[in-house]
Amino acid sequence: MIDIKNVTYFYDKDIAALENINLYIKEGEAVALIGVNGSGKSTIMKLINGLIFPQKGHYFFQGDEITEKKLKNQSFAKSFHKKIGFVFQNSDVQLFCSNVYDEVAFGPRQMGMLESDVEKRVMDTLKFLNIEDLKDRPPYHLSGGEKKKVAIAAVTALNPEVYVFDEPMNGLDPKTKRFIREFMLNLNKAGKTILCSTHDFEYVQGVFQRAVVFSDNHTIIRDGDYEEILKDKEFLQENNII
Ligand code: ADP
Ligand code: MG
Repeated sequence: MIDIKNVTYFYDKDIAALENINLYIKEGEAVALIGVNGSGKSTIMKLINGLIFPQKGHYFFQGDEITEKKLKNQSFAKSFHKKIGFVFQNSDVQLFCSNVYDEVAFGPRQMGMLESDVEKRVMDTLKFLNIEDLKDRPPYHLSGGEKKKVAIAAVTALNPEVYVFDEPMNGLDPKTKRFIREFMLNLNKAGKTILCSTHDFEYVQGVFQRAVVFSDNHTIIRDGDYEEILKDKEFLQENNII
């Protein structure tokens, strides 16, 4: 489903973010991206979501190479963005509408859905995330946890096949972290592919089958069974992950 081949990415020509990355993700997998700050996790997520493009190497999504040129094609871009959803680390970057309803309706409207269908989709999604009572509130006045749920709702409204979460639990209270864990578990049970960067190991128990570990050299140093890697304290300590 996601196939990244020998991808290198630098910011401003000299700040390395990804060095020769190879990563293949199958449909239905739940994969944790682990690594110290600055190792490249957010960068690879941006690349997977078509926000940036490889400077070396190639990225294929369901067999199509994702390039800047391809995403300039409106119908291709629409179908790509419908299949893959990105929950940003910072909800403030993601939320821009004047009320929660419009925020969640934004994606479906972009896709050209009829307004009557949009309404049903939005209400179903708000219910699914248990945030119906936030419907008319301005997103920028919400708490961190509420904002995160709205950002997740905005992505869920398009019913994507792949969910990409960038440190979704950062700064949230334990109850909201548990909610997000449950949510990810349910998505994966429903067959969705999940990619998630995280340091919150105690709150993501049982969610991931696989872990991909990034080093401070911006390479992948380990890729394997999640539980096995999490048990390898020596490896995690050596790489400053715990
Ligand atoms: P992580 O998400 O693992 O913390 P990032 O992908 O954000 O890592 O960052 C990888 C490297 O790229 C870091 O050295 C970081 O400082 C740099 N970087 C990230 N975003 C930018 C940016 N917008 N401009 C310049 N450098 C950046
Ligand atoms: Mg990051």
